[in-house]
Amino acid sequence: MSTWRIPLADIDMGPEEEAAVLDVVRRRWLSMGETTAAFESEFGALTGARHALAVTNCTAALHLAGLALGWGPGDEVIVPSLTFVATANAVRYTGATPVFADIASLDDFSLSAVDVATRITPRTRAIVVVHYAGYAADMPAILALAEQHGLDVVEDVAHAPGASLDGRALGVWGRIGCFSFFANKNMTTGEGGMITTDDDELAARLRLLRSHGMTSLTWDRHKGHAWSYDVVAPGYNYRIDELRAAIGRVQLAKLETANRRRRALDALYRELLPVAAPGLTVPYARPRGVSSCHLRPVLLPEGVDRVRFMGEMKARGIQTSIHYPPVHRFAYYRGDGDRADLPLTEAVGAREVTLPLYPGMTAGDVESVAAAVAEALAVAMEPAFRPLVETSAACD
Ligand SMILES: *Cc1c(COP(=O)(O)O)cnc(C)c1O
Repeated sequence: MSTWRIPLADIDMGPEEEAAVLDVVRRRWLSMGETTAAFESEFGALTGARHALAVTNCTAALHLAGLALGWGPGDEVIVPSLTFVATANAVRYTGATPVFADIASLDDFSLSAVDVATRITPRTRAIVVVHYAGYAADMPAILALAEQHGLDVVEDVAHAPGASLDGRALGVWGRIGCFSFFANKNMTTGEGGMITTDDDELAARLRLLRSHGMTSLTWDRHKGHAWSYDVVAPGYNYRIDELRAAIGRVQLAKLETANRRRRALDALYRELLPVAAPGLTVPYARPRGVSSCHLRPVLLPEGVDRVRFMGEMKARGIQTSIHYPPVHRFAYYRGDGDRADLPLTEAVGAREVTLPLYPGMTAGDVESVAAAVAEALAVAMEPAFRPLVETSAACD
């Protein structure tokens, strides 16, 4: 349990999730059963995807996406650097090379189609788009570029379940969508994820690779649909279990209400922050599409001491975070930095602070955060202590 007055995020789980887990325990079928099938079909209905496959987590989903699309050594895959490291790590798992592209602007932290275009080489196979904070990336521009160059588009939808653009869910714009149900995401199963695709062949390949490359599943054999199996690829065990799927169904049923609440709270932030702290940049002023409002990022004015700002927020009982330290700056990825000329990513990486946002917040909480931001910013913008040199010089 945290001691924060207002934490960065909070989960919403209660008697319904408890009952759902208990029901699975009592039915004594723990993996790849009817609960997972129901969770998948309900998630497919939410997104409008033909196929939804539940997996262990979003990182596994991204890995499977790359494998199903045939990425391998020598291939390049364009990814943002302003993301959680899993987006790039998953490309590495396949043997392909992640190539970092810059974000659109200081208002839109998802990939810039214009910058992506400059990173395309004859070896480029795909673009992985992250819908930062739950706001739709410029999918029409990215898809047009991908089509022009014969590239696949994968969506990392970890922030954006239930979000949409032009009335179409995020996660079904590209060839494959990868969702996360990690503990701090908009809906959670603890660990968990989902893959969406409209492509029957890709779905079949993803299904095989999710479960050891086996041609029939335990569930089918249990149901008497199959008696044996072959192995046609060195697949993985990236399955979810029935306990998590049961929690996922309850969380999914709450998602729309929870996202609506997030949007209302975020609208209040966007109303209060520019008044309380005029020096602050409040991105996504005019969001594209309907956001899932996973995060509320702000940018501190240039030159402000972020550590001091976050310390002042902490002193007021308010938890903040940074999304994200750019991936191309991590030790492992620094070698890929030759072409990593990413000025906007660098600027956001240096100035971004994420404020608390979760459905259980009250309007009063948002007001408290906005007031604390104003105070913390005033402190962090004070010039540092004057060195004592002047005083001692006067004493000489
Ligand atoms: C959380 C997250 C992931 C990884 O999700 P897991 O389910 O924890 O593997 C990938 N990409 C982004 C953008 C994320 O925020």
